[in-house]
Amino acid sequence: MAGILYLVGTPIGNLGDISPRCVEVLSSVDFVAAEDTRVSIKILNHLGIKKQLVSYYEHNQAESGPKIMERLMAGESCALVTDAGMPAISDPGEGLVDLCVKAGIRVVCIPGPCAAVSALALSGLPTGRFTFEGFLPVNKKQRGEQLDELKAEKRTMIFYEAPHKLKATLNDMLTVWGDRELSISRELTKLHEETVRTTLAAACEYYAANEPKGEFVLVVRGAEETEHVISMDEALELVRTLQKEGKSLKDAVKRVASDHGLSKNELYDMAIK
Ligand code: SAM
Repeated sequence: MAGILYLVGTPIGNLGDISPRCVEVLSSVDFVAAEDTRVSIKILNHLGIKKQLVSYYEHNQAESGPKIMERLMAGESCALVTDAGMPAISDPGEGLVDLCVKAGIRVVCIPGPCAAVSALALSGLPTGRFTFEGFLPVNKKQRGEQLDELKAEKRTMIFYEAPHKLKATLNDMLTVWGDRELSISRELTKLHEETVRTTLAAACEYYAANEPKGEFVLVVRGAEETEHVISMDEALELVRTLQKEGKSLKDAVKRVASDHGLSKNELYDMAIK
């Protein structure tokens, strides 16, 4: 009989967040697949668990995934852990789960801390509908395009960010979206944990004078409902005006769709008819 893949959530800072079920599963599996074996050995040592660790991370998953699958198919059970938080959430795991699903291998989640969900719950912003965006692309053009796409997003948005990129990210968000409310959570569950409810403009000003330190989650309020929903004819009129000003059809459509929360494809189809 095939084994089971356990997705085991581990702490995002505070070892006190290790659950009894996490300990039970780490103790009972045949082996542990870890994003960084040097990080995970510390948790296993802390728990007094001796277990074989194999490496499974972003750049070796193509070779490591099939090897783990072979062992699962042969009946062994595996716990997948990452450096912090939930596997598969901006961390390795999604590919391995996909392989298991396709091979009919059972996957069980042992839920643990997740920085995104913790920051969202702390934000004070609407939690009923939200979108998790993970890390924005590093490439400036792709980053701009993604922010542009999110301009009309009404749901609360969650982003992960590294300290050395925080200032640029906040500035880019302010430039593309204008001022918005946001909640910045830093070093969750750790000694210097802090959550500040502020605005993009105030945060840009603060971090221009204070160097960001630690790990960050940004939770940003979605776009306001547009009071006046424009008709397709009005939107096409705006597209034509932008074209007369020298914009290409594609850029004009993208801009109008983003400014008014319309479907880019639908507007483009209408414009070329
Ligand atoms: N799988 C993890 C989870 O479930 O949250 C996320 C891993 S991702 C590679 C790492 C990012 O998560 C960090 O750059 C930061 O944005 C966020 N993060 C992780 N731990 C955090 C913490 N203690 N406080 C704030 N943000 C944290």
